[in-house]
Amino acid sequence: KGDPRLQAISNAIRVVPHFPKQGIMFQDITTLLLDHKAFKNTVDIFVDRYKDMNISVVAGVEARGFMFGPTIALAIGAKFVPLRKPKKLPGEVIAEAYELEYGSDCLEMHVGAVEAGERAIVIDDLVATGGTLSAAISLLERVGAEVVECACVIGLREVKGQRRLNGKPLYILVEPR
Ligand code: AMP
Repeated sequence: KGDPRLQAISNAIRVVPHFPKQGIMFQDITTLLLDHKAFKNTVDIFVDRYKDMNISVVAGVEARGFMFGPTIALAIGAKFVPLRKPKKLPGEVIAEAYELEYGSDCLEMHVGAVEAGERAIVIDDLVATGGTLSAAISLLERVGAEVVECACVIGLREVKGQRRLNGKPLYILVEPR
């Protein structure tokens, strides 16, 4: 995709080898947030893509989906819905467990935050196996929302190759460095 902004976005992401454990090449988007132009371009690309798609829900995955999602939601005229780790949301929730490389994790969403028939996108910083985004899709579909697309700043090659997740399109800006 010959968008000249993408290379600068990629360059602004710091790679920290062996964090949080041996063998992981951690993609650190906090350095992207420090680079005003690259951060703004990242948000702008998502906003341009979703502004005329009749999206009423931007669902962000804790924690790094919270750093991009609300700005996109405000710009496209949608609500922001946080998908959180267990026991953080105070109201009634629905929960979706998912498998990790070692063990499992869980995402929760407030009941009533999203209504049946709403058109939603899901935002996170990075997709690796797709397990996290799949759980997010399930939460939204369980309340009758339509997940139009999942969007990430960074996507691993394998996932990028298929470009779909649970049958939903996956939109990725850059590959890991
Ligand atoms: P997955 O569920 O396997 O697609 O993993 C995606 C989730 O794990 C996202 O919330 C990412 O923030 C985080 N994650 C996985 N791998 C990395 C990585 N190499 N660098 C930074 N975050 C990662």
